[in-house]
Amino acid sequence: MPGFELFGTEEQKEVQDVLDSGVLMRYGFDPMRNGHHKALELEKDLADKMGTKYAQVVSSGTAALTVALACAGIGSGDEVIMPTFTFVASFEAILSVGAIPILCDIDDTLTLDPKAIEACITENTKAIMPVHMCGSMADLKALKSICEAHNLILIEDACQAIGATYDSKPLGSYGDLGCFSFDYVKTVTCGEGGGIITNSEIYADRAHKYQDHGHDHIGNDRGAETHPFLGYNYRLSELNAAVGIAQLRKLDNVLSIQEKNYTILRNALTAIPEVTFRRVPETGVESYAFLNIFLPTEDLSRKTHKALGAHGIDACFYWFDNNWHYYKKWEHLLEQKSLGKLSKEIQTGLQKNNKTFHNSDIWMGRTISCLIKLNWTEKEVEERASKMKEAIQSIL
Ligand SMILES: *Cc1c(COP(=O)(O)O)cnc(C)c1O
Repeated sequence: MPGFELFGTEEQKEVQDVLDSGVLMRYGFDPMRNGHHKALELEKDLADKMGTKYAQVVSSGTAALTVALACAGIGSGDEVIMPTFTFVASFEAILSVGAIPILCDIDDTLTLDPKAIEACITENTKAIMPVHMCGSMADLKALKSICEAHNLILIEDACQAIGATYDSKPLGSYGDLGCFSFDYVKTVTCGEGGGIITNSEIYADRAHKYQDHGHDHIGNDRGAETHPFLGYNYRLSELNAAVGIAQLRKLDNVLSIQEKNYTILRNALTAIPEVTFRRVPETGVESYAFLNIFLPTEDLSRKTHKALGAHGIDACFYWFDNNWHYYKKWEHLLEQKSLGKLSKEIQTGLQKNNKTFHNSDIWMGRTISCLIKLNWTEKEVEERASKMKEAIQSIL
């Protein structure tokens, strides 16, 4: 998955353009910038690649989620449904607009279980935010029909699955708004950065204003611009955008390397009857950023994860025990450890999450995810495949 593995002269050239002019900011300074608008260019490229009308780049994936929520009009006391398995950014973004994250079970897709969602919906629910974890996707068709039935907004977190498709559409472009992270370990990196895609003119217009203090971006004098609504600063710098331009051009190549390496590993593990694979929803095509497997039990999964490490297989994750990605270890959220006072609505709303999510535990307890790297030689992947097989068979 990590785009940094392919960092090279292409990125250096784009950054050099910015260094040559010294204009590090995306707005203003037109006479000095030698015609370079890197953030704007990255937005055009991203919209183009994702087949959406609009794209907005911002300072991180977390910022992308925050701006998307804000653009959708989500605010104080609104509830947003999110999965138990994700990155902490999901609830951070929801809380930061004053809304309440409502945790909901996942299934064997490792993403939101459509069957569990009805029970999470209340009169305060405003949006469903599926997270396409580890290179594959949520059952977007089912989620969309729930959203239509309840008049909810669908915001896709595609931070870990850029390049995957559902119903022949790039992830992020199926819902009302889609979000990407370009942080250092993501498939496309800017160092730090993020992107939002949408086909809605209204959301796109809100996004460019909101991420820049509410500036209307009319005319050439920033000091004279009006502010139709409150915003914040989530701007991306020209330096970061420059890296992203070169990285995004490499996406197709990255996806084909991932698919090749993934397939070698998967074919090897298919020989072990106890190993099964994460379900990909019908019409979905993975980005192959991770290979996700199930072992028969929690105990065997934990042992297998240890055995993989002992056999020298790095970058395999047992999320069930992980502090960043699974609800069981989010005590700062569940115990409401906030530096400042949380709103009454959030304090009360968060209590809904203090329960056990049995179905999530069943699937996550059995899941091991292995990162697919780009710089492995074919020989290294073959060796890795046979070592993985050996490690797993040593436990069974
Ligand atoms: C990385 C990530 C984010 C946040 O992105 P940052 O750019 O690190 O803020 C959000 N959601 C998921 C699923 C991620 O993996």
